Amino acid sequence: MTTSKNVRSKTAMQAVAERGGATDDALRAPFAVTEAPGIDIFADMQTMGHEQILLSHDPSCGYFGIIAIHDTTLGPALGGTRFWQYASTDEAITDALRLARGMTYKSAVAGINLGGGKSVIIGDNKLADREALFRAHGRFIETLGGRYITAEDIGTSPADMEYIKLETDHVAGLLGLSGDPSPVTGYGVYVGMKAAAKVKWGSDSLSGKSVAVQGAGKVAHYLMQHLHVEGARIIVTDIDGEKVKRAVQEFGAHAVLPDDIYDQPADIYAPCALGATINDETLPRLKVQIIAGGANNQLAEDRHGDELEKRGILYAPDYVINGGGVINVYGELHRWPVERAKKKAGEIYETLLRIFDIAKRERMPTYRAADRLAMQRVSSVAGLDRMWMGKR
Ligand code: NAD
Repeated sequence: MTTSKNVRSKTAMQAVAERGGATDDALRAPFAVTEAPGIDIFADMQTMGHEQILLSHDPSCGYFGIIAIHDTTLGPALGGTRFWQYASTDEAITDALRLARGMTYKSAVAGINLGGGKSVIIGDNKLADREALFRAHGRFIETLGGRYITAEDIGTSPADMEYIKLETDHVAGLLGLSGDPSPVTGYGVYVGMKAAAKVKWGSDSLSGKSVAVQGAGKVAHYLMQHLHVEGARIIVTDIDGEKVKRAVQEFGAHAVLPDDIYDQPADIYAPCALGATINDETLPRLKVQIIAGGANNQLAEDRHGDELEKRGILYAPDYVINGGGVINVYGELHRWPVERAKKKAGEIYETLLRIFDIAKRERMPTYRAADRLAMQRVSSVAGLDRMWMGKR
């Protein structure tokens, strides 16, 4: 992908002022703009296979939003709204494109009828007065007539979704509906971990196995609940001491300092906090046989997935094992009872077994095998459309 590395950036205010044509609206632009050479958006769309990207500006409230739609073969594109202060417009577009593609893969392997999309709002996500901005975003989403459905993501909350709902029905993650997806996500991570154990050790029992859990937040909490019931030994860390204390009290976990989690002589490492924790610095320190956790974007770069393969560490691809969250949203859209969403998340076990099998047969790292399975489902469903079904 082309990027705008080494491109001089400046704030929108500086750029507009320098051109001598500053309008009040432009002066309020909350992001930096880049000068040529920027990204080639069509080239990126072609490389990654996107259908559409849209930009919107509402001068009344200083709204700058982007919606990227990757692939709608399986259904309407679903993906959360990220509210973030990007360094440049290029960076925001690139993030939206990359995240939208990730959502296609995530929903495809989760076996649900959703395509992949994502939207971003550019600005400071600590903003106190949010109604106008999120209503503007809702109106933008409404123009797509259901091709894109949004939900929460970094920087947004269920209360923001309520503002969006005032303008469009194409929004999930609403208060009083499916609610917090973490119990379903945590359950999916637990069954996915068992699938990895089955492949690595011949039995899916986690009894007596030691699991180093990074982060003791919502997903980790539900994961640890299941692990504790099954008799696993839990090592835990978090930057929030209260959460660590709770895990120690409730699950008999052994607490370690945040940076020490990578050095634990455990069987499994479960990243449940940040992304990119599998990187050049941590890889040589990891002594585990399996990596299976809920965090998004665990590999700093693809090559770290290749390195795990070389080291014989079985990696459960992040977007497969944490698919319980998107399954929960799908359940909300179709008014499923929670139990049905949980049952669907239980299928992550079989899906991971298939991915591990593809990886073994095709001699490829598991993260590539997951992409392969995702695109296989998209292609096979696309093939069904060859048969005329009348007007539907
Ligand atoms: P959360 O905020 O409840 O938990 C994250 C925890 O990580 C917090 O307790 C935080 O203090 C801790 N943390 C932050 N930096 C840390 C560090 N350096 N070392 C140790 N701990 C640190 O979030 P969550 O909803 O549990 O999500 C956890 C991860 O799972 C995120 O990456 C999220 O994107 C991903 N995810 C969540 C869901 C879901 O249903 N909530 C679904 C899919 C993916």
